[in-house]
Amino acid sequence: MPPTPLTVFYSAAYVVEGMTETVTKSKLVAAMIEAGKAGEVRLAAPKLATRQELELIHAPEYVRSTFEDTNSFLEVGPWSQPLLESILATTGGMRDAVKEAWKNGRSGSLSSGLHHARRNAGNGFCQFNGLALAALEALKKVKKVGILDLDAHAGGGTFDILGDDKRVWLADVTVNGFDSWEPTDPRRHFYVEMGGPEAYLDEVERALRHLEPVEFLIYNAGMDTYEKAGGMKGITQEIILKRERRVVEWARLRKIPYIFALAGGYKWGGLTLEEVAELHLETVKAFAA
Ligand SMILES: [Zn+2]
Repeated sequence: MPPTPLTVFYSAAYVVEGMTETVTKSKLVAAMIEAGKAGEVRLAAPKLATRQELELIHAPEYVRSTFEDTNSFLEVGPWSQPLLESILATTGGMRDAVKEAWKNGRSGSLSSGLHHARRNAGNGFCQFNGLALAALEALKKVKKVGILDLDAHAGGGTFDILGDDKRVWLADVTVNGFDSWEPTDPRRHFYVEMGGPEAYLDEVERALRHLEPVEFLIYNAGMDTYEKAGGMKGITQEIILKRERRVVEWARLRKIPYIFALAGGYKWGGLTLEEVAELHLETVKAFAA
């Protein structure tokens, strides 16, 4: 029986034109998916994250301020209704990806700007932590959920929100110390900052071994590790492709549901936005295959 086509969450609400990659690149990835470049993939619009569910992962005052303080500056730019809706849509996309993965084994959302958001505040282009929301959604059906964070930067926000939750396993391999965190429970926390590119895939492998007990995988698939996307010299596109295929293979061998988020990927290293989108498309292709 052929595998069920991959459903990926995305809607026009994700995009706010003229702003940073975090809220613009998904449109290009979606267009490539619609053109059939990722194989058999269906796009679906998510339900917006609600205030009530955001208060499960963030302080009520921080959630209130994000919704109501219309003169404030959000992580990605000045408050505007489209920007708020983008944040709610991309956060909701993570929750809906979990629901889809329960049905068909895998899913993803073209969401980014998630893992630096902590309980009381945003940070590093991340307003709300969709990884944390996805983890709580997954925990409605399993006892152990894993978050594999392979963005170039550390997921200190995710640790801030879920670090005390004994049902959550965190594995974070970075090439940059931004937002780094100190594991407090070696049984459930794995964090390594790479010294050089040679051992990158070995460290990914170690991170996966750390996640062995989990029954659901949430993968933060950052492309900012790539040498030409502002990452670490020596991490080539070939290494990134191997990484994407390995993560998928690992989840499939264990027959556990798995989802992805786009995470970091920028023009910093001199790439065009199209080239950044093509990198992210590799994650979608690996999930669809
Ligand atoms: Zn990053």
